[in-house]
Amino acid sequence: MTTDEWINETLYPDWGQRFRVKRELARVRSKFQDIVVFESFSHGRVMVLDGVVQITEADEFVYQEMLVHVPLLAHGDVRNVLIIGAGDGGVLARVLQHCGVERAVMVEIDGDVIALSKQFLGSISGSAWSDPRAEVIVGDGIAHVRQAPDASYDAIIVDSTDPVGVGEVLFTEEFYENCARILTPTGVVVNQCGVPSMQAEELRDSARRRGKFFAHSTVYVAAVPTYVGGLMALGWAAKDATLTKISAAEIRVRAGAASILGTTQYWTPEIHAGAFNLPPYIARHLPG
Ligand code: SAM
Repeated sequence: MTTDEWINETLYPDWGQRFRVKRELARVRSKFQDIVVFESFSHGRVMVLDGVVQITEADEFVYQEMLVHVPLLAHGDVRNVLIIGAGDGGVLARVLQHCGVERAVMVEIDGDVIALSKQFLGSISGSAWSDPRAEVIVGDGIAHVRQAPDASYDAIIVDSTDPVGVGEVLFTEEFYENCARILTPTGVVVNQCGVPSMQAEELRDSARRRGKFFAHSTVYVAAVPTYVGGLMALGWAAKDATLTKISAAEIRVRAGAASILGTTQYWTPEIHAGAFNLPPYIARHLPG
């Protein structure tokens, strides 16, 4: 009888998901983390960093579409985008779908994540890596925001690991203060801030810190099956408090102009507008 091989996620000590492994594609100890990429039976190719599921081919679209299309379409005229983390290339690919984007700077601390994503996760990044509007930097996101010029970006998308290890600096007041400085007056910053049913502290702390430097700080939600624990919270901070109140009808018009309509499997103008309506078990963790 074959002994099936399984990979268990180790994000939570008392609970977790597991994947039956069809084929291991890479197992690397980089300067920053353990990286495993494998072919699963259930979710296509999967990348795990330090035992935490980062992305699967089967459901990455949910997360990428919501982390990208919501801020860019709410803003309505994004030209310059800063992406931090996102080494798999999925966020970069979605940002570059927006025909109004002129420049997408991506700062990922671990070059091995980029190399392995290019090698094994091409279905997620597509041709993003070779797009002339893309500038990919291997470096620390905090160092980049410290030196970036004032008002140099319209949107900042932080697709980092959780606030432990190298990801921790991306959840600090210093980081958000610099984001506020390098964003334009209508700028917006979004970030992954965990699954509230299991990581409410991540949501509470990051929302409070963002609120110190932005007129409006909240979260919006998306249901990402392999970010276990129900709805995932995506942090939102903007200088213009009206950006989260734009009607689905207006979002639809903008999505048409940006060549996004009809390209998505989770995001829709109605999902976009509705994502800021939070269930009480999540809303109660927001300040104020
Ligand atoms: N979608 C995933 C999630 O929500 O957990 C994140 C995927 S992406 C692979 C996370 C990336 O953040 C990793 O490649 C990691 O190397 C990168 N990262 C962590 N800390 C960073 C930092 N300080 N600067 C830049 N990139 C960082």
